[in-house]
Amino acid sequence: MHLTHLACTACGRSHDASVPQNVSTCCSKPLYAHYDLAAAARTLTKAALQTRGKSLWRYREVLPVKSDAHIVTLGEGFTPLLPAPRLGAKHGLARLLIKDESQNPTQSFKARGMAVAVSMAKQFGLTKLAVPSAGNAGGALATYAARAGMEAHIFMPADTPKANIIECRELGAHVTLINGLITDCGAEVARRKVAEGWFDVSTLKEPYRVEGKKTLGYELAEQLDWTLPDVVLYPTGGGTGLVGMWKAFDEMERLGWIGRKRPRMFTVQASGCQPIVRAFNAGEKSAAEHLGATTRASGLRVPKAIGDFIMLDILRKSGGGAVAVTDDEMIACTREVGSAEGLFVAPEGAATYAALKHLLSRGTVRREESIVLFNTGAGVKYLECFGG
Ligand SMILES: *Cc1c(COP(=O)(O)O)cnc(C)c1O
Ligand SMILES: [Zn+2]
Repeated sequence: MHLTHLACTACGRSHDASVPQNVSTCCSKPLYAHYDLAAAARTLTKAALQTRGKSLWRYREVLPVKSDAHIVTLGEGFTPLLPAPRLGAKHGLARLLIKDESQNPTQSFKARGMAVAVSMAKQFGLTKLAVPSAGNAGGALATYAARAGMEAHIFMPADTPKANIIECRELGAHVTLINGLITDCGAEVARRKVAEGWFDVSTLKEPYRVEGKKTLGYELAEQLDWTLPDVVLYPTGGGTGLVGMWKAFDEMERLGWIGRKRPRMFTVQASGCQPIVRAFNAGEKSAAEHLGATTRASGLRVPKAIGDFIMLDILRKSGGGAVAVTDDEMIACTREVGSAEGLFVAPEGAATYAALKHLLSRGTVRREESIVLFNTGAGVKYLECFGG
C-alpha cells in the first residue's frame, strides 16, 4: 500500500515500481520492494492487528498491492506456530515450535508468494503468467491464476511429484514437462516468454513473491508476542522465505516493533543438492551450481538460486549456518514427526528436524534455546516418497 520504489539488491539503484519488473536492469539481480514505513506505521499498529483477519493481508500496509480490488486471495497465511512438546522432549529441548505452512491454501507456503505476485499482476493488467516449478510453486500459480481469471503456463521437471502435476492440470493451467531440472525449466520460460507474451513469475526474478513470503517473519514475531526465536531452520531451495523473513525483521525494527536481536538462521538442504551449504562452508559469497542435483524433496531440488548471495550474507550475519541431510533421513524423520506430533509433513519440513538433530549433536544449537522448524508443505503431496 505504501510501496515507494524497488531497489537492486546488488547495487541499491532505484527502479520504477509502477510498471511490471523482473530482475534489475543494472545488475540482473533481484529487486526488493521499499515502503514508506512511517506512513505505514500510522495505521499498522500492534493494537490494530488484533482486530484483523487471520491471513497475511493483515499486514496490508507493508504489502505492495495498491487497491483492495486487486487482491487475489484464498485466505493464505497466519498459519499456526505449533508447540512440538513430544518431539522436543525426546531431545530435552525447552522450546521447539513448528510453523505449519501445510495449512495454507494449496497446502504449501508457496501460496503466500503467489497470492501477492498474482495480485500485483492483476494490478498491472497482466493476463498470462509463466513459471518454472519443482512442484508447489506451480500448484500455487495455477490456483491463484485461476482465481484471477488469468492463464498459467507451468514448466516442471518430468519427475515432479504426481500430485503437483495433476493439481496444475485440474486447475486449468498449461503444463509442460521437461526432461531436466528446474533450471532447465527456467531456461525454457526465458526462451519463450517474449514471443508468447508471458510474464515470468520465477521466484526472486519478480519482486513480489518475496513480499508474500516475508509475512512469515511478521507472523513469527506476532505469534511470539513480538519477540523472535533464537534459532530458525528453513528448508532452502530458492531461499525466498529465508530472505523474505530477514527483510521483514528489518522492516519491523524500523517500525519500532522489535529490537536488533535476530534469530540464528540455518539453511537446510538435501545432500544431493546443496549449493548453499557448499558455498557457506567454503566461505564463498555466491554459490556455484550443484551439478547432477538429485533429491526426492522436490522443493529443495534447486541447483542454482539467483538469491544465493543474499542468503549467504544472512546466514553469516545472523551467526547461523547451513546443513545438508540425506533423503533417507528426511523420510525417516517424516514418520518421527508425524507419529510424535500429528503432522504429516513434507520431506522438506522433515529435513529441518533431521538437521536439528545434527546441530544438537554438534553443540551448535543448545537445548535451552527456542527453535522454530518450518514445515513448508504437506506430506500427502509426496506419496511417491513413501512408497505410495
Ligand atoms: C519451494 C519449497 C521449498 C523451498 O522454498 P524456497 O523459499 O524456494 O527456498 C521448501 N519446501 C517446500 C515444500 C517447497 O515447496
Ligand atoms: Zn544493480
